[in-house]
Amino acid sequence: MTADALPLPQPALGPLPSGQPPHRRSLALVSNEEVAPAIHVLTFDLPPTDPLYFLPGQYVTFYLQREGRSVTRSYSIFSSAERHERVSLLVKEVPHGFASTYLCGLSPAARPSLMALAPLGRFVLQDPGGRIVVLVATGVGLAPFVPMLELLRRDRPETPVWLFLGNRYAAEMVYHTELRALSAAWPTFHFVPVISRPPADGSWKGAVGHVEEAVSGRFPDLSMADVYICGSNPMVSQMQALSLQLKGRRDRIFVDRWGESEE
Ligand SMILES: Cc1cc2nc3c(=O)[nH]c(=O)nc-3n(C[C@H](O)[C@H](O)[C@H](O)COP(=O)(O)OP(=O)(O)OC[C@H]3O[C@@H](n4cnc5c(N)ncnc54)[C@H](O)[C@@H]3O)c2cc1C
Repeated sequence: MTADALPLPQPALGPLPSGQPPHRRSLALVSNEEVAPAIHVLTFDLPPTDPLYFLPGQYVTFYLQREGRSVTRSYSIFSSAERHERVSLLVKEVPHGFASTYLCGLSPAARPSLMALAPLGRFVLQDPGGRIVVLVATGVGLAPFVPMLELLRRDRPETPVWLFLGNRYAAEMVYHTELRALSAAWPTFHFVPVISRPPADGSWKGAVGHVEEAVSGRFPDLSMADVYICGSNPMVSQMQALSLQLKGRRDRIFVDRWGESEE
């Protein structure tokens, strides 16, 4: 990533406007809500003595124990960067996935504490200048874009911003109502939900297909866009290649590659 990080006035980010060096912290689970089939919002409290100052797009890495070994798994921060003592994560429960099954099964009743390293990551918002911003996500790849949208709306409200969000089924769409409300209230923000398997009853009125088609249909030329891509590895690779074909500038295409789980 060669561009400078967004040099916005960020009073809400407190005394560390460029983010905070990561360190290990203890996160106490306060709620665990299944917001769509197999998709959970997990909310954690940080100690008041150890607030988290993160840049929208950054993530936390949990240290978990598996058969006596420490394994790590990372999750993008889904909540507002203006909240420093509480973070929410959007976690998809992967079939047979070790960490996601464990996390989604946690009960907040006993306020379990998890050890995590945070904040991490360079997939952060760049100053768009006079360019438009195109955000492309599938599934829970939406997570880092929620705090990014909040920052753009606050500090670059005139910038045209497009969010293309793909899912297979309409039922998997999370945060849909909030995004629709945001696009109604923010004239330069455009939300394009796309599903690949629409219901047979014709009740889905939005775009059908894959996010790549929706983006290329709307933007045959991306030379004036900053493109941010987050989601499954195949989609990220395809969308990155497509952005280059559509004349996107290599140094203005930013990807969050989640890849295979790290052990
Ligand atoms: C920077 C970063 C940010 C991330 N942010 C998020 C986030 O906000 N929300 C989130 O849910 N995940 C996020 N991930 C992915 C997350 O770290 C884990 O990889 C994911 O939860 C699966 O871990 P697991 O231990 O449950 O599965 P594992 O036990 O590692 O894998 C079990 C099996 O499932 C497959 N698998 C792994 N991931 C997926 C998947 N997503 N879909 C289908 N099959 C899969 C594996 O190939 C393997 O075969 C992020 C990853 C990175 C690197």
